[in-house]
Amino acid sequence: MLTAVSRVPLRRAFADLPAYVPGARAAVGAAAYKLSSNENPYPPLPSVVAAIADAAVDVNRYPDMYATELTEAIAQRLGVAAESVVAGTGSVAVLGHVLTAVCEAGDEVVLPWRSFEAYPIAVTLAHAQQVRVPVGPDGRLDLPAMAAAVTERTRVVLVCTPNNPTGPAVRDAELRAFLEAVPRDVLVVLDEAYVEFVRDPDAPDALALLAAHPNVVVLRTFSKAYGLAGLRVGYAVARPRLAAGIRTASTPFGVSHVAQLAALASLRAEGELLARVDAIVTERTRMLAGLRAQGWDVPDSQANFVWLPLGDRAATFAERCGQAGAIVRPFAGDGVRVSVGEREATDIFLEVAAANAPR
Ligand SMILES: *Cc1c(COP(=O)(O)O)cnc(C)c1O
Repeated sequence: MLTAVSRVPLRRAFADLPAYVPGARAAVGAAAYKLSSNENPYPPLPSVVAAIADAAVDVNRYPDMYATELTEAIAQRLGVAAESVVAGTGSVAVLGHVLTAVCEAGDEVVLPWRSFEAYPIAVTLAHAQQVRVPVGPDGRLDLPAMAAAVTERTRVVLVCTPNNPTGPAVRDAELRAFLEAVPRDVLVVLDEAYVEFVRDPDAPDALALLAAHPNVVVLRTFSKAYGLAGLRVGYAVARPRLAAGIRTASTPFGVSHVAQLAALASLRAEGELLARVDAIVTERTRMLAGLRAQGWDVPDSQANFVWLPLGDRAATFAERCGQAGAIVRPFAGDGVRVSVGEREATDIFLEVAAANAPR
């Protein structure tokens, strides 16, 4: 069936488009902790499960196209107007809509690298050109170099803070200087997928920067801190005119009714969920301290993962973790990202790390 080769060409750019590699899962029947996708290790709260069950009986209907109630709840929570909030099927999808809304074919998008692996794909899909600016050896974005990489062809700069997979958040002062340096018609996307995990007092307040800079858009998600990765809800916060453009580029009826009600229930249960985030941050601190005591030189993490810059040893190290029962995410030739999950998972990971420590 369907074996005859199609003669329809795919876009030329697809030839060198890397595939998004999802974090590995345990083999069916095998017990292993999944530390490969930065997921929340806690199952949904009973109140969220109840909201999902309530929503289930309405799925013969299309959802509210603009997720009005959720959008209003987010806007109220953030202290912005509802017209500034655009919900979508995860902030990765929203990023795609942002790029589609502003990029002409061939425009340049400056991005840090290594960073979120969805970026190069999203940029190419939007018919734009990526300009990669290396992340420093300490895992920090080089904002002065990113500002210097902006040319007349640049339409967007992506700022991932905290940076996935290396961990540090940018600092307020350097981001302010960066925003002063970038032309006002260049969009600066602040991807804050992990903002709830940030404890660095020098980290920026993205909403304050958005208030001061009309060329900023902030991306956030319910996938990480709120534990709804499987339901696909994220959002952008931007000036109304930009937000309207992002809405135009969005998939109609993208966010399901189930996802909308689950996200609303999560906002209502925010206190409980943020207490879980605190527990994950405590576990992160234990993980980083354990690694450093073993002699590892690892970057700071303000997110729910840590980064081991292992270079050529990344694949082997990840394999050893998997054999021990903790599945982690290798980036071949570069490093290994390990999500912060259950206590027992940290213990397994730290044991493998000890056996492979640099000294
Ligand atoms: C996980 C993540 C996202 C959010 O993904 P969703 O599509 O909302 O699940 C966005 N940006 C970065 C950097 C991430 O790591």
